[in-house]
Amino acid sequence: MTILDGKATAAALKKEIAQAVQHIKDNGGKTPHLAAILVGNDGASETYVNSKERDCREVGMNSTVIRMSAAISADELLQKVDEINRNDDIDGLIVQLPLPRHINEQQIIEAIAPAKDVDGFHPLNVGRMVTGLPSYVSATPDGIVELLAHYNIETAGKHCVVIGRSNIVGKPIANLLALKATPGDCTVTLCHSRTRDLKSLCLQADIIIAALGKPEFLTADMVREGAVVIDVGITRIPTGTENKFRLVGDVKFDEVSLKCRYITPVPGGVGPMTRVSLLKNTLKAAKKEIFG
Ligand code: NAD
Repeated sequence: MTILDGKATAAALKKEIAQAVQHIKDNGGKTPHLAAILVGNDGASETYVNSKERDCREVGMNSTVIRMSAAISADELLQKVDEINRNDDIDGLIVQLPLPRHINEQQIIEAIAPAKDVDGFHPLNVGRMVTGLPSYVSATPDGIVELLAHYNIETAGKHCVVIGRSNIVGKPIANLLALKATPGDCTVTLCHSRTRDLKSLCLQADIIIAALGKPEFLTADMVREGAVVIDVGITRIPTGTENKFRLVGDVKFDEVSLKCRYITPVPGGVGPMTRVSLLKNTLKAAKKEIFG
């Protein structure tokens, strides 16, 4: 069994990104710049945005966090998005989700200029990704594909079972792995909460991608010998000590890992790859690689 070390792989990719950023600067180019809008003060969102800022700093990119009150109106947020869309110094824009309930997330996602949509959530980028055109691919599925590529894991002709059909993980990774590409060329089964007999589908899988957000859901009896298991889940479980928690994946690692050929750990698997993919997209935005 080989552990797919997302932490080490992401560190190597980060170095390459830092070198590319330095190259742009050495040649008199503008420093790549990521802006993040954070609405309200949700603890997890705050942590994610802080780590995105830190990642940018580490590779020499500029980052700006725009903090807005949870009470702002959708119009005020749309105005801010429009302002950033028109700011030539900012290459990439993310709006940290979830947004307060009174704001329609889809409306905000669609207001982001596709050329700055480094989260890859805009329908134009999603459509381009599904048709195999150059696009910003959302960070988690992109990170998974990078990890499979880094470890030269054969995917062509393999049966991949994806558990979870969210717009940010399940649906895009299912589409990416079904593309005529490397990694790709998989036969994909996309499963969700209404799927019947998930266990028998999982037992037919060469590759399982667990992205449902249920701690230790995937157990050894659902996995066949030699499978590749990618654990996307992250659930914070309180340790009992004040404000302390541990991160638990969707896979029962101790028992599933004994049957796998490859498996990602939690933490240190998909998480770091997700973070580096956002940097990758920001670099692409700065170089105007997708939309010219
Ligand atoms: P979501 O909550 O939006 O969707 C969950 C999906 O799982 C749904 O499509 C639902 O139908 C399916 N599901 C729920 N129960 C099921 C069951 N019993 N059987 C089969 N399918 C079931 O989830 P999401 O936003 O895609 O996140 C999933 C997990 O991945 C969460 O733990 C989240 O924290 C984590 N996540 C991790 C990263 C990362 O960087 N590692 C990034 C995004 C999300």
